[in-house]
Amino acid sequence: MIFLDAAATTPVRREVLEAMWPYLTGEFGNPSSHHSLGEAAATALAGARTATAKALGCRPGEVVFTSGGTEADNLAVKGIALARRAADPRLDRVAISAVEHPAVEESARYLERVHGFAVDVIPVDRFGQVTEEALAAVLQPGTALVSIMYANNEVGTVQPIARLAALARAHGVPFHTDAVQAAGWLPMDTGALGVDALSISGHKLGAPKGSGALFVRGRVRLEPLVHGGGHERGRRSGTENVAGAVALATALTLPREPAGRVSALRDGFIGAVLAGVPGALLTGHPTERLPSVASFCFPGTSGESVLLELERQGVICSSGSACAAGSDAPSPVLLAMGIEPEVAQSAVRFSFDSTVTAVQLQEAAAAVRTAVGSVRSLGEASGGGRGGRSSAAAS
Ligand code: PLP
Repeated sequence: MIFLDAAATTPVRREVLEAMWPYLTGEFGNPSSHHSLGEAAATALAGARTATAKALGCRPGEVVFTSGGTEADNLAVKGIALARRAADPRLDRVAISAVEHPAVEESARYLERVHGFAVDVIPVDRFGQVTEEALAAVLQPGTALVSIMYANNEVGTVQPIARLAALARAHGVPFHTDAVQAAGWLPMDTGALGVDALSISGHKLGAPKGSGALFVRGRVRLEPLVHGGGHERGRRSGTENVAGAVALATALTLPREPAGRVSALRDGFIGAVLAGVPGALLTGHPTERLPSVASFCFPGTSGESVLLELERQGVICSSGSACAAGSDAPSPVLLAMGIEPEVAQSAVRFSFDSTVTAVQLQEAAAAVRTAVGSVRSLGEASGGGRGGRSSAAAS
């Protein structure tokens, strides 16, 4: 099997498992307990926070451990917008890009539905990028928060985050970025990026599912979403996932293969697919993209059928469809980039972790050629009907 779905999730790295193991077994204390077992857990948690802060270029007190990327996004979008409006009722708008993950998009829609906020959606260009002009056009005196992802989970397009954050800051508006896909591949220094909040998720990086963190700049007020014993400085109650925090910190700080090696392999794979599959379209930005993502549309097929055919040949990847169970609707991300719905439905995403090899990608490119060819010929034989099962892309 060739696993090319690392944007969905990655296996836990051995070093990560070894680092977290003691806190699942012998050192199992509750960090709030005032005995030696509790204190050992508190020390481990503090160490994980310091290491995470170092990786993010921030202070330990600016790190809130969460259950993953979705929770971090919810806390940033709802928590900052609600706190700002509580301080000034005129701040009743949030601005998000048109290509956000549902964790951001649905948080903004919740603010609209339940709390009466207005949501301003910032359009993207055909490569999926937000321009400074597009952001400037939506900023208003009532904007409480801007949230624009660092890198897109479906097409891999990287946003000019430092420039966009600087623009928001010049208007006095806090800036959140969902860096779930960017972490491990792109610079994560929150100071250099100039962001006020940034979300990461452990399971995209070799830590377990259910670990993650939100960076929130010290001066930014945050309304908590989970109430209880006041953990995480009152920003996120609940007994901390000590092993998960240790795992996340370890995954963030482990040495990684240079991103340049994977970028070069990605470019070779993109070239081989475009040369081998007539009519294949690369989606996303041609150069400003994650080293780890190659995404295509194969007009005349359905992405789901290509996926199924590829799996038969031992290649695991993902369709570009919406991140919702059982959905084969065309991806809103691709539609926002101006891709026609029929073409968007033929999307397939290949995403690599840092251990990917040239041989794997050569084999995968050959499999793509065969798979698309056979789906197209089946489609012609059956009068163009769509085949395949309906399975959702995990993003
Ligand atoms: N944001 C992006 C860009 C993602 O790709 C994902 C992953 O699905 C998430 C947020 C959600 O992260 P998690 O799976 O940790 O909840």
